[in-house]
Amino acid sequence: MPPDALPFLEWFVRSPWGLTFALLWGALWGSFANVCIYRLPKGQSLLRPSSRCPSCHAPVAWFDNIPVLGFVLLRGRCRRCRAKIGWRYPLVELLSAGLTAALFVRFVDGNQDSLPTQLAHFVVYGHFALVLLVLSAIDLEHLLLPDRVTLPSTLVFFGAGRLLSDVRLADALIGALIGYGVIWLISEAYYRLTGREGLGLGDGKLLALVGIMLGWQALPWTVCLGSVLGSLIAIPWLWLRKRRDKSETLRHIAVPFGPFLALGALLYLLFLHGRSLDELARYMPGL
Ligand SMILES: [Zn+2]
Repeated sequence: MPPDALPFLEWFVRSPWGLTFALLWGALWGSFANVCIYRLPKGQSLLRPSSRCPSCHAPVAWFDNIPVLGFVLLRGRCRRCRAKIGWRYPLVELLSAGLTAALFVRFVDGNQDSLPTQLAHFVVYGHFALVLLVLSAIDLEHLLLPDRVTLPSTLVFFGAGRLLSDVRLADALIGALIGYGVIWLISEAYYRLTGREGLGLGDGKLLALVGIMLGWQALPWTVCLGSVLGSLIAIPWLWLRKRRDKSETLRHIAVPFGPFLALGALLYLLFLHGRSLDELARYMPGL
């Protein structure tokens, strides 16, 4: 890096431009996440061809592809064939922008480390959050957490985690083992007892990914937060479905668990990860 670059970067990151950049950066990655969500379950390449309308296959112009704004200006329809563009597209872009901004506040603004260390945390955890977002969206749509996302991600974030050295090597490896093992045990027990598949092993691979990035300490939080949020959202949703269609039996409706585990892991990352008990006590008066 040239000698002038660091002071400039320092000024940029500490000015309001830092957070603005994080928001735009997150929205752009959200746009790429949409490509992954659409193409990965179909086994298509992420790089070629460029974005196309799924109905008329017309290439999408760069100005129609601007995150969120493109969708708003087109009023949610393809410029050529007027086919509807799903709400998922702007929603994923907004979620990605919001998550990236939150990670910026947590790991750059709210951290005492040197600037390169702060930025390394921002980049690694930003991409980790993006992978969780992609997996959640695929799970919601296809009830599936593809191996071609979870397995390479586990390797990549194992390496990235070594660079950050927030989590000890042993804690990361134990995290991956316990994460997968717990889901494998529950799924095996459920299958033996009921003869039906309950939890998919994809959930285990997702938890292994969380464990290798954040350490085994993250797993109880991830599972508890995920289960509580999952019940709060899924039970009213199932009840509404049952009321609408009396013939439906709830036992056979599959509810994806992946998005709730991902949400639990992200809450842990944003609020608890890397904080000592003393630090946490300061946030909770009365403890
Ligand atoms: Zn079209």
